[in-house]
Amino acid sequence: MKTDLEIAQETKALNIQTIAEKLHIPEKELYLYGKDKAKVNLNYLSGLSEKRSHLILVTGISPTKAGEGKSTVTIGLADGLNAQGKKAMACLREPSMGPVFGLKGGATGGGYSQVIPMESINLHFTGDMHAITAANNLIAAMLDNSIYQGNPLNIDPEKVVWKRCLDMNDRTLREITIAQNKKVNGVERTDHFVITVASEIMAILCLATSLSDLQDRIGRCVLAYTMDGQPITVKQIQADGAATLLLKEALMPNLVQTLEGTPVFVHGGPFANIAHGCNSIVATKAALKLSDYVITEAGFGADLGAEKFLDIKCRMGNLKPSATVIVATIRALKFHGGAKVDQLEKEDLEALKKGVANLERHVKNLKNFGLPVVIANNRFASDTEAELEFLKIWTKEKNYPFALSEGWAKGSKGMQALVEQVLLALKQENRFKPIYEVSQSIEEKIETIAKKIYQAKSVIYSKQAQAAIQKMKENGWDQLAICMAKTPLSFSDDASLIGAPTGFDLHVQDILVSSGAGFLVVLTGSVMTMPGLPKEPAANRMGVDESGKSFGIF
Ligand code: ADP
Repeated sequence: MKTDLEIAQETKALNIQTIAEKLHIPEKELYLYGKDKAKVNLNYLSGLSEKRSHLILVTGISPTKAGEGKSTVTIGLADGLNAQGKKAMACLREPSMGPVFGLKGGATGGGYSQVIPMESINLHFTGDMHAITAANNLIAAMLDNSIYQGNPLNIDPEKVVWKRCLDMNDRTLREITIAQNKKVNGVERTDHFVITVASEIMAILCLATSLSDLQDRIGRCVLAYTMDGQPITVKQIQADGAATLLLKEALMPNLVQTLEGTPVFVHGGPFANIAHGCNSIVATKAALKLSDYVITEAGFGADLGAEKFLDIKCRMGNLKPSATVIVATIRALKFHGGAKVDQLEKEDLEALKKGVANLERHVKNLKNFGLPVVIANNRFASDTEAELEFLKIWTKEKNYPFALSEGWAKGSKGMQALVEQVLLALKQENRFKPIYEVSQSIEEKIETIAKKIYQAKSVIYSKQAQAAIQKMKENGWDQLAICMAKTPLSFSDDASLIGAPTGFDLHVQDILVSSGAGFLVVLTGSVMTMPGLPKEPAANRMGVDESGKSFGIF
C-alpha cells in the first residue's frame, strides 16, 4: 500500500482557478498562492446570496489510539456526492504545524480521500498560522509595553493572563521568565507560551462573521487584571485595530481540492478542548452559498466536537445543520468493548458487542439535538466479515441508518452506500435546537451538558471553580456559551472509563473566560496547551531532495 504522501504526490492537481470555476467564483476574486491554493475575497463571499443548502456534520465515537478517520470520511463524502453529480464541497480545519514534527499524522485525510497539496497544508500553507501568531504576540508586546511605559492602566504584572504563542511543539516555552535582569527590558515576570492553535485569536478567527466582528471580538479579549481586580481588555490597550489588520488576509477562506478535484475550504483550526474545534464560520457560510451540500467535521468525539459545533459554532453563526454522520471503526468499537490495543486486528465479536454501547450513546445524543444521524463504518482491512455482519444486524435492529465508508481504499467509488444513506437522512424531520440556552446560569449550562450528553450523576465544583463562577458573574460573563475541556477518551473526566459509563461525578477544576470568542472554558482536568516533541520526533526523518520534492512527512 502506498503512503498518503505518495498517493498525494502522484496526483496531478488541477489549477486552483479550475476549482474556483466549479463554484462560479470569478478569477478576480482569488488571491493566488501558487498554482494549487487561493484565498477567496471576503467581500465577494459576503455579497453572495444565501440559499437552502445542506450542512452535514461528520463526527465520531469517543476517539481511541486506533483512529477513527473523521477527516477521511468528510473528504470521501464530498467526493462521493460530486461523483453522483451533486454540487458538494468540504470544509476542514487547518492543521497546526507543530505536531507534524512530533508524532501525529497530517490532518488532510488519508488513502484515496485526501486534500492536496497536503505537504503545504500541513506546513506553512497560506500563512494563516503565522498571521495569528503575529497578531497574538503584537497584543502581548503592547500589553508589556503599557506596563513598562508607566503602567497607566494600573495593570498587576502578576495577573497577566494573555499568553504569547508559537506554532511549534516546544515544551521549554511553557513557563519562562521575560524581561530578565535589566529594567530597560521591561518588567520581569513569569510568562507562558501556548501553541498557536490554542490561542484565543485562533478561536476568534473561526467564530468571527466579518472583519468588524473580528475586531470587536479581539477588542473584548481579557488580557490581565488591575491591582484592584478589574479586567483589562485588548481594546483598552488599543491593540484591536492593528491585530485585525494583521489578520485581514487570514480571515479569507483558503480554497484547495481533494484528490478527485472536489473544492474544499481548509480554514481555521482551533483546539477542540480549550476551544471549539471546528473550521471557520466564514468558510462554512461561504461554502453554503457556493454549493448545495457542505460536509464539515468537528474534532474529538461527538460528546465534545459535535456538542461544541452545535452549541457554539451553529449558534454563533446562525447555521442550521441538516444531518450528522457518526464515524465508527470496528477497531475502535472493540477497544471500547475492552479489547487491548495490540489485539484490535483480531476478530473479537464479544468486545464489539460491548463496544457498540459507546456508539449508541453518541447516536442518542445527536438525536437529542433534533438531528438525523447516519452511522458510517470507516472500513479497515483488518475488519472481518463476521464483525461487519454483526454491525449491520445491530444497526438494523436498532433502526439506525448505516453504511460502509470505503473512501480510504477506493475514493468516491467506496462512498456511494454512505451517500445514499445521507441523502435519505436529509429527507428526515429536522428539529435542530442547541442543548442549552446561553441565558441559563453557568451551573445550569454545565449540568445540562454533563447530564444530558455525558450521563454524569452530578457535577462537583472545586473551590477554585466556585470562585471563578462568582468572578464570571461579577464581570457579566455568565451569559456566554460553554466550552467544555474534558478528556476526549471517555464520556467522563476519567480517560480510563471507556465504553458508555454512567453514574460518575464530573469534576470542574476551574473556569476561564474567552470573552472575545464568547465562551467560558470549563476545565475538568489539566489541559496541555503547549505540546512537546517525543524522543524520536517525526522531523528526524523529514527532508527535501535536490529537485525540491519533500519526503518523510507522514
Ligand atoms: P480523524 O479525522 O478522526 O483524526 P483522519 O481522517 O485524520 O482521522 O485519519 C487518521 C489516520 O488514519 C490517517 O493517517 C488516515 O490515513 C488513516 N485512516 C483513515 N481511515 C483509514 C482506513 N479505512 N484504513 C486505514 N487507514 C485509515
